[in-house]
Amino acid sequence: MMVRIVGGHGGVSPGFRTTSYLIDGKLLIDAGSAASGLQIDEQVLIDNILISHSHLDHISDLAFMADNCFGLKGKPFEIHTHGPVKKAIMTHLLNDIIWPDFTALPTKDNPTLHFNVLEAEQKFQVGEYTVMPVRVNHPGDALGFIVEKGNCAIVFTQDTGPTERIWELAKGYSNLKAIFTEVSFPNKLEKVAIDSQHHTPATMAHEITKMPADVPIFLGHLKPNYQPLLFQEIDALGNDRINILGSDDTSYVF
Ligand SMILES: [Zn+2]
Ligand SMILES: [Zn+2]
Repeated sequence: MMVRIVGGHGGVSPGFRTTSYLIDGKLLIDAGSAASGLQIDEQVLIDNILISHSHLDHISDLAFMADNCFGLKGKPFEIHTHGPVKKAIMTHLLNDIIWPDFTALPTKDNPTLHFNVLEAEQKFQVGEYTVMPVRVNHPGDALGFIVEKGNCAIVFTQDTGPTERIWELAKGYSNLKAIFTEVSFPNKLEKVAIDSQHHTPATMAHEITKMPADVPIFLGHLKPNYQPLLFQEIDALGNDRINILGSDDTSYVF
């Protein structure tokens, strides 16, 4: 699997885009920056979109992708998430006030966006990929995903504070090749991180002890204003499993 980090940050600023990971050019995980970070002919090639939770930095570009690709695809973007997140997006974003309801445009029978409601811990198939959605500890009814294709499985926790279940399930994958998770705030903001259910480098050091062993770890969702400090504090952990998603539009092959 090729994982392209279109945007891997927890904020927006020149050079920093919010969460959108593109698998093999066609499966998108979160839509924080898929419109601003991909050419329109690349956006059109996306078939399926997994949405982890309803925070704006993970859903905003659903609006702009729908607008960009309106009438160009011939079939909808298939969005996969669970009921509370669908409800939040429909109520607060695609509500014909903030943005048009692209689940009914151009027609209800052939819309630009189509929701598929999933249940946590029930595996489902999207194209060549088997996806296991797992609840994680973050507001907005957040999900992580374990995505598997052939002999390769990858964990994507997306936003989360300290959590348990996804690590228990991940240990059942003998083909696990990588873990993508998050560190948002520096150690001095640990209270903010705990209150908002995110990680600091210090809390991540403990989190790693719960993860499957020996699998490379990719840390994203760094807040742009703290990136230099986060680099220092993550480096000080001295863990050579760790990679940092410090630059957007980078790709990894597994
Ligand atoms: Zn976020
Ligand atoms: Zn969030």
